[in-house]
Amino acid sequence: MAEDDRRGDEVLDTLRRHAKRITTAKRAVVGVLVDSRDHLTAEEVTREVQRSWPDVSPSTVYRILEELEDLALVVHSHAGHAAAVYHLAGRSHGHVTCEACHVTFEVPSDVFDLMAHELEASFGFELDRHHVALAGVCAACRTRRRAVP
Ligand SMILES: [Zn+2]
Ligand SMILES: [Zn+2]
Ligand SMILES: [Zn+2]
Repeated sequence: MAEDDRRGDEVLDTLRRHAKRITTAKRAVVGVLVDSRDHLTAEEVTREVQRSWPDVSPSTVYRILEELEDLALVVHSHAGHAAAVYHLAGRSHGHVTCEACHVTFEVPSDVFDLMAHELEASFGFELDRHHVALAGVCAACRTRRRAVP
């Protein structure tokens, strides 16, 4: 995993520097994001947090995710029609999502270099590589489809 991942302590330090209160729920949400290394929906984050702290409500988790996002500690992205997914900021990558199995994959940011350059040069448009996933069909699903007679 990339070394530019922010560790949980750094996240909590940043919260403190911004005079945010460090609640048990916040600590739990940050812990889940640090441990998971994955793209989690707010619902999945809530479920993980509730394993240890069943009293933490989904709306509390939402508010915490928003607060972390406001401080650029967390980013979210969208894949197809599914709920937004969250992870710690600092990993520079794009997303592609499979419309058959609904799995979202990370792809290196430079995969989008050519398109980003072209969009900027021709349309003055600045591409956000991370926010929204490109849709398609993954390698495994394509193989499966070819196998169907
Ligand atoms: Zn969004
Ligand atoms: Zn697939
Ligand atoms: Zn991502």
